[in-house]
Amino acid sequence: MRFLITGGAGFIGAALANHLVRQGHTVRVLDDLSAGDSANLDPAIHFTRGDVEDKPKVWRLLNKIDCVYHLAARVSVPESILYPREYNNTNVGGTVAIMEAMRDAGVKRVVLASSGAVYGEQEVDKVSESLLPNPDSPYGVSKLAAEGYVRTIGRLWSIETVALRIFNAYGPGQAIPPTHAPVIPQFVRQVLGDGSLIIYGNGQQTRDYIYVDDVVQALIAAATAAGINRQVINIGTSTGTSITQLVALIEKVTGHKAQTIVTPAVSGGVSALVADTSRARKLLDFKPQVSLEEGLALLIERDPQFAKEKLSAMNDE
Ligand code: NAD
Repeated sequence: MRFLITGGAGFIGAALANHLVRQGHTVRVLDDLSAGDSANLDPAIHFTRGDVEDKPKVWRLLNKIDCVYHLAARVSVPESILYPREYNNTNVGGTVAIMEAMRDAGVKRVVLASSGAVYGEQEVDKVSESLLPNPDSPYGVSKLAAEGYVRTIGRLWSIETVALRIFNAYGPGQAIPPTHAPVIPQFVRQVLGDGSLIIYGNGQQTRDYIYVDDVVQALIAAATAAGINRQVINIGTSTGTSITQLVALIEKVTGHKAQTIVTPAVSGGVSALVADTSRARKLLDFKPQVSLEEGLALLIERDPQFAKEKLSAMNDE
């Protein structure tokens, strides 16, 4: 098949692109490199630097494409609280631009990377797709709006659409921006480098951490599965892990003791967010393969940024 992956030089996009190209598919990537790095891509991938709103470029890239993966987005909950307009522009405006271009180019299928962040605080242990979304950050709102545009424009122009609500993905290749570092790579780096971990609140905030290869399997299934038109589907492991449990697991996998600093909780985070994955199992035959402990070990083994940390920690001993 021929795929276009927007945001394909990012963490999840590059893992997906590399996987697809190794399976023999034709893969084009469009990424403005605001966060991603094209060096992460297999040389067989056709990479174009550009914005999803650059119409002529997007039209050209959509030529003869069977399925678009729309992953290009700004992805930080805390950053979205500071810059909601930018999140609206990229995540909502960029999605509308892609849908319009797909309509014009006659492309018939799109898989949107949405997020568990659309749920916000809910009164249940595991969130299912039938719940009313209640996003508590501009990022969550932007993803919910993107879902709506994809579904509605798709219905109007007979484009098959599916939105995967991905929960907390982690794995090799995830960047650690200083202003909004994702918790797993940040904690692993600190523990390996004998730095401190900052824990906000009581350490009981619970998330559903999913290894990137499992996310890639779900994305691949979503490109071809039958009977999923207009669906939203949770992609997680259905297992909740608190921050305290996460720290203990990182200590176990690294063999290093964590030094923790506890500070008051900050806004923009719900207390618990764990996926009910029944729909993914039913519609995509999706079953995550990698436990958190295994995934942490793979992250440390495969991510070059941790090889350096491990080495300097060993030299210090
Ligand atoms: P990422 O930041 O690594 O990837 C996003 C990519 O989009 C980057 O490479 C960036 O350069 C590119 N991009 C941003 N704006 C663009 C624009 N206007 N035009 C072209 N490219 C642009 O993030 P990620 O973690 O790989 O996330 C990929 C997708 O999955 C996003 O849509 C994100 O919202 C979604 N998602 C991620 C997670 C997670 O835990 N990582 C969870 C839920 C949903």
